[in-house]
Amino acid sequence: MKIGFIGLGNMGAPMAVNLSKAGHHVTGFDLAAPCPSGVTSAATATDAASGQDVVITMLPNGAILKAVASEILPAMSKGAVFLDCSTVEVDAARDVAEKCEDIGVGFLDAPVSGGVGGASGGTLTFMVGGSDASYDAAKPLFDIMGQKSVHCGPAGNGQAAKICNNMILGITMIGTCEAFALADKLGLDRQAMFDVVSTSSGYSWSMNAYCPAPGIGPQSPADNGYKPGFASELMLKDLRLSQAAAETADADTPLGATAMGLYETFVEQEDGKGTDFSAMLPRFEKRGRP
Ligand code: NAD
Repeated sequence: MKIGFIGLGNMGAPMAVNLSKAGHHVTGFDLAAPCPSGVTSAATATDAASGQDVVITMLPNGAILKAVASEILPAMSKGAVFLDCSTVEVDAARDVAEKCEDIGVGFLDAPVSGGVGGASGGTLTFMVGGSDASYDAAKPLFDIMGQKSVHCGPAGNGQAAKICNNMILGITMIGTCEAFALADKLGLDRQAMFDVVSTSSGYSWSMNAYCPAPGIGPQSPADNGYKPGFASELMLKDLRLSQAAAETADADTPLGATAMGLYETFVEQEDGKGTDFSAMLPRFEKRGRP
């Protein structure tokens, strides 16, 4: 396939390289990041998008996605697919989807989980919103860049799935960390705490697969000085998106709101920026009751 790839940052560059290694012709553009080897460099976003079968975007936020879409849509071929893999507002995805529909371009929102490791290893999970026809057209690319893609329904539903998943993740990570900090103060050994909870009703991905306590459970960022992994500021971004969506949809999400507030304080007023999101444990560990 002829693929345009816009946004060659931490995630986009390795994804573009995997597509090129699989034999696709990939033309890339980024405002700042260099074009990785195997990807043909375009001078503008429009150049990268024009005449391609699929145009993939991997950008920081919804405002940038909308600006890039306005720029490149006039250059895209009728029948091509606009595949956005960024994490953005549900509304931004639906807005771009409508603009695509008006000009006969297919649109998929396909945010990912798996992080930079998943992008490099081609093991991402894609949560996809959009038509069956566009999903079928992009499926071979999901299979190269990832190990799993789930078609979640019409445009915007991929973003909906992503922010609901990450709201659960933020909440369970905070719950796991505050429980460890409480256990410490009660004199309960962390290994014993893990052995009980990981096989009892308090278990979760945060405890069992990504334990925030160093030296306990499987290898995780806690064992590497809380280097990300999944950075606290990215968790904050996703929690903000879930709260924005909850407001628009009139959904009551009190724990999501509390999780957002805690990560906001951690990232903006404490030393959380640049640490893994599981570094909530050393944060709670140092504190008494407010
Ligand atoms: P990044 O900041 O490393 O990359 C974004 C790239 O977009 C940058 O290189 C930037 O120069 C480029 N860019 C910005 N404006 C542009 C424009 N107008 N035209 C062309 N290029 C432009 O971010 P990332 O970590 O690669 O994340 C990308 C997206 O993936 C985000 O939406 C993020 O939330 C999501 N995501 C990231 C991770 C992760 O672990 N990094 C995990 C899951 C999802």
